Amino acid sequence: MRSHLLNDTTAEQYRSSVTEGIERVAAKLATTNRPFTGVTVDALAPSIDRIDLDRPLLDTTAALDELEELYLRDAIYFHHPRYLAHLNCPVVIPAVVGEAVLSAVNSSLDTWDQSAGGTLIERRLIDWTTERIGLGPAADGVFTSGGTQSNLQALLLAREEAKPGRAGWEEPASYAKLRLFASEVSHFSVKKSAKLLGLSEDSVVSIPVGHDKRLQTVALAHELERCRRDGLIPMAVVATAGSTDFGSIDPLPEIAELCEQFGAWLHVDAAYGCGLLTSRRNRHLIDGIERADSVTVDYHKSFFQPVSSSAVLVRDAATLRHATYHAEYLNPRRMAQERIPNQVDKSLQTTRRFDALKLWMTLRVMGADGIGELFDEVCELAADGWKLLAADPRFDVVVQPSLSTLVFRYIPAAVTDPAEIDRANLYARKALFASGDAVVAGTKVGGRHYLKFTLLNPETTTDDIAAVLDLIAGHAEQYLGESLDRAS
Ligand SMILES: *Cc1c(COP(=O)(O)O)cnc(C)c1O
Repeated sequence: MRSHLLNDTTAEQYRSSVTEGIERVAAKLATTNRPFTGVTVDALAPSIDRIDLDRPLLDTTAALDELEELYLRDAIYFHHPRYLAHLNCPVVIPAVVGEAVLSAVNSSLDTWDQSAGGTLIERRLIDWTTERIGLGPAADGVFTSGGTQSNLQALLLAREEAKPGRAGWEEPASYAKLRLFASEVSHFSVKKSAKLLGLSEDSVVSIPVGHDKRLQTVALAHELERCRRDGLIPMAVVATAGSTDFGSIDPLPEIAELCEQFGAWLHVDAAYGCGLLTSRRNRHLIDGIERADSVTVDYHKSFFQPVSSSAVLVRDAATLRHATYHAEYLNPRRMAQERIPNQVDKSLQTTRRFDALKLWMTLRVMGADGIGELFDEVCELAADGWKLLAADPRFDVVVQPSLSTLVFRYIPAAVTDPAEIDRANLYARKALFASGDAVVAGTKVGGRHYLKFTLLNPETTTDDIAAVLDLIAGHAEQYLGESLDRAS
């Protein structure tokens, strides 16, 4: 079994085994003509259940053959131009090279003595990101597993920063007084974080959005006033820079103004909109982000990076101390005094992947402008898609996109029952998924079911969009036809 350990004596086996795996994926990518095969859970589950994990194949080729059947054949392929569903991007090759290097070397970024240069590379990328945001000279941050963890950590810091010097602060009773403000289309991880942070069930105040799906600052001001009046504590405002459904960007400068006025921490959730940090054309759309106390960025969404790659950035490095614990075996206090850079001092995780290497390779090979150009292309595609939808009487489209999502629904000419229209759209999404011809997402707007395109693939064309719209209309019409038959 030692022959399977990666070391000086197995370099040749490493090369041939990994190459074999890469060949399988390359062949798959080259021949995949649909984003999905449409396989069902019931069809796939038995073949995976059947595998006897206590009887190994003892052979890489055999295991890859098996994997072909179990996974590769029926996987959802984000690189396909008709994968239009969630915030998953096709990945850039330099990042995949980084991924191969980081998992083989297997550095762990918790401490300097497990990573050396890895820690310094991550730190440079954190600095690069905070400079792009404009957070100022005291800024810092750390890579995380994703936007959910970044938001949680940011709100942990906000909670701790809300306490100092507060008269009558009593823990944990006073947690009940903390309030968080976020728009009604903010990400659900804000509520999840509030729960994990021990805040009360009504701690997250939902602020209405306008027709453009951006937080209404008049309503926010009103709620902040009310919070103060009721003797509660405005812990933080979460502004969304690129909402998951609509790509809408909250009015950051106005929100920053209110945060200052009410002494609230400003967290900008730019999990999706962060791609604009590299855009020459559209960077201005997130002006005001530089006033944040903390920012979430998901490189694995709009920087074309493989999962996972994300970071939380803060204006004031000192606030990261709220996540600092010292362990004698790992990062004793004296190491901090000796200025040994242990990233675990800033992280919620301990053992942690060197995800930063993927972004490093991307910047070194393509450059930031390269990423920005790709993101600009998908935003432009969304603008063209909006024109298609707005001109098409078969569809109702919700809002002109600022980033790269389109939310719309099929509206049959002859049907007026809103519940029936909902069912037709739900059916169309399911039928399309089952066909494997395209994958689209769905969401609710004003209590009604809508469909969603998240466009993150520059290879997708307006012809693809038009073709998928025809497919959706076809499935919806088929449903309505059958529904008529059922009724008669
Ligand atoms: C995707 C997303 C998140 C969550 O990020 P993960 O990386 O999936 O954990 C948070 N906020 C917004 C706005 C998002 O779009």
